[in-house]
Amino acid sequence: MQENAKDIEAAVELRRAIAAEQMVVYFQPQVELATGRILGVEALVRWQHPERGLIFPDDFIPIAERNGMMNDLTDVVLNQAARQHALWQADGIDLPVAVNLSASSLRDSTLPDKIVAVCDRNGISRRGLSLEITETSVMAEPEAATAILRVMVERGFAIAIDDFGTGFSCLAHLRNLPVSMVKIDKSFVLDVVNSDADAHMVRGTIELAHGMGKQVVAEGVESKEALDLLLLMGCDQGQGYHWSRPVPAEQLTEWVTGNQNTALSSNVGGAAPIPAQESKRLAVLRRYRVLDTAYEAIFDDIAAAASRVCGTAMSAVSLVDADRQWFKARVGLKMRETARDLAFCAHAIMDPDQLFVVNDACADERFATNPLVTGDPRIRFYAGAPLVAPDGSAVGSLCVIDSIPRQLSGSQLEALSQLSKHVVAIFEAKQHLAEIAQKWGTSSRNLPTAV
Ligand code: C2E
Ligand code: CA
Ligand code: CA
Repeated sequence: MQENAKDIEAAVELRRAIAAEQMVVYFQPQVELATGRILGVEALVRWQHPERGLIFPDDFIPIAERNGMMNDLTDVVLNQAARQHALWQADGIDLPVAVNLSASSLRDSTLPDKIVAVCDRNGISRRGLSLEITETSVMAEPEAATAILRVMVERGFAIAIDDFGTGFSCLAHLRNLPVSMVKIDKSFVLDVVNSDADAHMVRGTIELAHGMGKQVVAEGVESKEALDLLLLMGCDQGQGYHWSRPVPAEQLTEWVTGNQNTALSSNVGGAAPIPAQESKRLAVLRRYRVLDTAYEAIFDDIAAAASRVCGTAMSAVSLVDADRQWFKARVGLKMRETARDLAFCAHAIMDPDQLFVVNDACADERFATNPLVTGDPRIRFYAGAPLVAPDGSAVGSLCVIDSIPRQLSGSQLEALSQLSKHVVAIFEAKQHLAEIAQKWGTSSRNLPTAV
């Protein structure tokens, strides 16, 4: 009942936000692997909340879906995408924009005409907009979906099937779908360099799609190693942090009009720095199977000890995932995760041999305008000891934070570094226990959670 009330409240707030034009569209380039050229961009919606800052679609699209707001949201994104495409065209930049449709869009028989009208209103050609629809949405009602997709193709719009590989669809369906492009879901691409199973899946999909005359885009390309492997496998295009995160239009324009090669390889977006061998680092982190698990007393105790030793109000055991930092333990902090781009800990993992210390964030141009500095929890002081796995990868950091500028003594820094080693030792021990359990046929779930 309470949940229900919360959902209604969230829906009311979201409806108001859509009307108040708080939805903003970010753009992420889609790159031709063989040449590095940008062939187009994907439009990805965000909610610019006046108090809570930028909210990502996974946190509000489900609310829109449950409350019948997806068509309104799609209209907003289609309009912003078309307007931006027109602005780029006027500047001599040819960037077709792909817009995501939801399952409910496929039940709206007026949608093809709506999209035509959006193009006409903005004076753009129909190849200026393309559409993405997930495999799961199509499979929910394959006949109706195929019919509406056909109409869109007849009207001149290209269609890509999104998140391919997650929907367990019968492959014969792919043949019948009027789509010109298949986007392999990022869950198969993120670890393609290290996982044989993922590599098989990706290679198989590329061959299957090419056999049907369709282009293939790999999502979630985060490293040069992944890019090289995908090229070898014959993949056509890629999208991912290796080139750029989704960024506001102006930033993409700057990049496209500036020096393409330098900006693209150094990652647009004022984004978090990415360490060398990032895919290996992420593979180590995933092997620990710690992300999104429950709090455990042992890690809480270590974070509390760090705060006590350093005399700070806040501390955390932070794991730096591909696009976020996630807290396994936290003292004095309200949020469970933040975007990686905002994370001080994303800097702390850059050098596994050193602590990362910011004595006054307001006096440091890398952080002075960071929303975690200008707003809650108002970080002024930060010290993070990298959590270094035996192979040298830093998976996160044990950090202490304060809302006043400070300095730590040498022995406090040494203690923080020692505590960070305990965190990794526990991750390692838990991983070994899980492996033993698997080998001897016991479910690791039956093992005690704290070591
Ligand atoms: P999607 O369509 O699969 O979009 C790709 C998502 O992957 C984006 O997340 C993007 O930021 C993320 N991504 C891109 N490259 C990488 C990478 O290298 N590594 C990792 N780990 N992630 C990467 P985002 O923007 O949070 O969007 C999440 C989902 O929300 C989208 O997944 C899409 O399903 C939905 N969505 C976003 N905008 C819209 C929209 O306007 N309409 C609809 N219906 N859905 C939308
Ligand atoms: Ca998409
Ligand atoms: Ca996708």
